Amino acid sequence: MADSDTEREALLAAIANVADRLADEKEHLTDLDSAIGDADHGANMNRGFGAAVEEAESAEGEATDVVKAVGRALVSKVGGASGPLYGGSIMAASAELEGGITAETTVAFGEAYLEKMQDRGDAPIGAKTMVDAVTPAVHTYKKSIETDDLSPLEALGKAVDAAERGVDFTVPLRAKKGRASYLGWRSVGHQDPGATSTLFVLEELLATAEDYLDDETERDAAAPAEPDVDPDGTNPEAADDPAANEEAE
Ligand code: ADP
Ligand code: MG
Repeated sequence: MADSDTEREALLAAIANVADRLADEKEHLTDLDSAIGDADHGANMNRGFGAAVEEAESAEGEATDVVKAVGRALVSKVGGASGPLYGGSIMAASAELEGGITAETTVAFGEAYLEKMQDRGDAPIGAKTMVDAVTPAVHTYKKSIETDDLSPLEALGKAVDAAERGVDFTVPLRAKKGRASYLGWRSVGHQDPGATSTLFVLEELLATAEDYLDDETERDAAAPAEPDVDPDGTNPEAADDPAANEEAE
């Protein structure tokens, strides 16, 4: 991303968008957590990200410091499973943003976030936790950037789609970690609250990135369009194909 002022502005906008979204979804997340947990996930996320906005705004320094302040706020304001898992993973992964926010550092951030979450929570994929949304999102983002050569914005779009499928995937699973695991087979048929809040966070990161990142596709759209049809009415790509020229006329 361009200069560090723009980077900071984008980051603060992203954190504020996430906080607003989680405030809007508070009841939704509470409902999901009341089915298989203790009905506090909506309040936890809302309180945590509300505090994160304030901490991020008053944080000095670069992107890495602002993101670390978000993690710290979540750890200190949110108890239960999700505070240390979200907050601790964000704090650990924030170190990867030392070089600013780039395609490379955001891939490293995602990988470090997932790794820390698994270290701490010990949930494999399929245990019906937020790991089921984070894992496909991180893997898809990395592949989209490193193998498919997509722009960060396109890659983030793919990551959101992957997280959404991850959330759907949690529904038929039996919970193996966290409070929901106490329900055993009765957890089957319910959507995991932590995976769902993860999707909301990613959706807001994407919406903010759309506002701040110049995408390749936007640049293409801004370039003068190549005419499909010659001024004399023939289709240049079909110069040797009289049928196509007839269609163009
Ligand atoms: P608590 O379960 O302590 O009430 P929350 O309700 O805020 O905390 O968060 C619940 C969410 O935490 C679950 O929906 C699940 O996604 C996530 N979670 C619980 N345990 C783990 C774990 N060991 N690893 C990863 N995520 C977990
Ligand atoms: Mg709960």
